[in-house]
Amino acid sequence: MALIVQKFGGTSVGDAERIGAVADHVARTREAGNEVVVVVSAMGKFTDDLIRLADDVSPTRPPRELDMLLTAGERISMALVSMALGARGVESASFTGSQAGIITDTDHTRAKILEMRPDRIREALDDGLVPVVAGFQGVSTEKDITTLGRGGSDVTAVALAAALHADVCEIYTDVTGVFSADPRVVSKARRLAKVSFDEMMEMAATGGRVLMLRSVEFARRHAVPLHVRSSFTWEPGTWIVEEDPTMEEAVVTAITDDKSEAKVTVGGVPDKPGVAAKLFRELADQGINVDMIVQNTGANGLTDISFTVAKTDLAAAGEACNHVKDVIGALEVTTDDNIGRVSIVGAGMKSNPGVTALMFETLSANGINIEMISTSSIRISCVLRAEKVGDAVRALHTAFGLDAA
Ligand code: ADP
Ligand code: ASP
Ligand code: MG
Repeated sequence: MALIVQKFGGTSVGDAERIGAVADHVARTREAGNEVVVVVSAMGKFTDDLIRLADDVSPTRPPRELDMLLTAGERISMALVSMALGARGVESASFTGSQAGIITDTDHTRAKILEMRPDRIREALDDGLVPVVAGFQGVSTEKDITTLGRGGSDVTAVALAAALHADVCEIYTDVTGVFSADPRVVSKARRLAKVSFDEMMEMAATGGRVLMLRSVEFARRHAVPLHVRSSFTWEPGTWIVEEDPTMEEAVVTAITDDKSEAKVTVGGVPDKPGVAAKLFRELADQGINVDMIVQNTGANGLTDISFTVAKTDLAAAGEACNHVKDVIGALEVTTDDNIGRVSIVGAGMKSNPGVTALMFETLSANGINIEMISTSSIRISCVLRAEKVGDAVRALHTAFGLDAA
């Protein structure tokens, strides 16, 4: 008998029929002799709808109230899935994140889990029930309801799997696994049977939104076996595993794309020590995460600093930069939300020269201009005009030999 955590994303519980299919699958998993803990997301695009409603009633998004609002989405799914299980003769009970013992910090809308106390979930399992837990939410040390950031139900599932010492955490979604590129962008993308944690983290960090980055980090830290698979076909999908040293590493495993970031440029900055420190301290103090950073070569003692932030942080980042502009003696601050990023990811690129050259040659052959570049030991990212991203991903997928036959 195994203990399996099964997480179902928004599309997987999108309507009554899909919820029925999920309940059938949970019932089958139980009949096969396993214990199951279910984690659910809000139905379909319900979280987006709630955010739009919030914007319709208020020009600001008060974080505490936004969290209270958004957690309602997962509550609806958990109750409906639990009812559907009952209708199939499977005894179950639903639990909010707070009831499931998910204790977070007080950073509303992107709270981090501090502690797991899943006593009620364990009791429910011991009583022979299937616990159905609302994903994406917890309760803070101040006893307020929090959310874990967009896509956070993946974190809920992995955290529960770790705390309960589950045998596997299954992430059910609307594609059959992790692909060599987003299958909605590249029709010739291939499903990968296995992906290493290192590669999956780079993919998740650069737009491969099939798994939320923090869930991959958490799974690795706690050695939780992760299996990404389809709630439409139920076929085996992709396992996220520690790299097997006996395997030959693919030079490039996947191409990712991301249009969720924007660029800020602080122009005419004095080229002297301490300026960048002041600028990025101000951004950090405002809680803004900075991703790529480029500083251009200075002329006449002046330089430009460009960096990317989440589009949702662009207004705050622009404000923060304008705030320090005079302090650091910069001339201007400009913002640009029409950028996108493409990245190539592969553990084998460490030992293969020529990968960067082929990436740049491919983009150039397609008339695509590179605006920013950043690298890690197993990833190269380029920032481009947003409208070029689709073509860039497809061209790179072909150039690196990833197209399905
Ligand atoms: P869920 O609601 O189930 O959490 P998400 O929308 O968060 O689903 O993630 C699944 C989506 O991730 C897919 O529909 C797919 O378009 C997208 N995606 C992006 N990159 C990849 C990739 N490399 N492999 C698979 N899916 C990907
Ligand atoms: N419903 C939340 C979101 O849309 C959490 C999740 O789906 O994982 O971000
Ligand atoms: Mg998701």
